[in-house]
Amino acid sequence: MRIGYGWDSHEFKRGIPLKIGGVTLPHNKGLGGHSDGDVLLHALTDALLGAVAAPDIGTLFSPSDPRWKGADSAVFLAEALKRVRAAGCAIANVDSVLILSAPRIGPHAADIRSKVAELLDVPVECVGLKAKTPEGMGTENAAIAHVVVLLEKKTSGARASAASKRRVRQT
Ligand SMILES: [Zn+2]
Repeated sequence: MRIGYGWDSHEFKRGIPLKIGGVTLPHNKGLGGHSDGDVLLHALTDALLGAVAAPDIGTLFSPSDPRWKGADSAVFLAEALKRVRAAGCAIANVDSVLILSAPRIGPHAADIRSKVAELLDVPVECVGLKAKTPEGMGTENAAIAHVVVLLEKKTSGARASAASKRRVRQT
């Protein structure tokens, strides 16, 4: 098994759409950034990359590269997923915390969880999402995301049972 952890923050700016977890939420401000500013997908991408000890999101998708200007963050996530699969791993589950003062995430949590599950190609029960307000942190104009992922090494049925027989014989 492998564990991965990712963290990200973006500042709210007027006049741009708010995208969180691949879902566009109704709000008067969005998250600034070189790409679409999707703080949750960025933290998730870094968690997946970290779990397989791959380079982080900023190294793979440099903020100074014009190719990623306004990019859909699902592209970054897809690359991380590709690397997870190349490492022979599958996602066991994902858990996340969003910290932002507004908008309220509760009414959109189901949509965000199902979108993230769809992007990861896992059942929605494998995606946890909690939202908090930034009490006493002074980060009212930012959105922050923390994400942990658990990966399992995929072994073929035959290989796994041969390995377990070997273990039995050795003991
Ligand atoms: Zn980011």
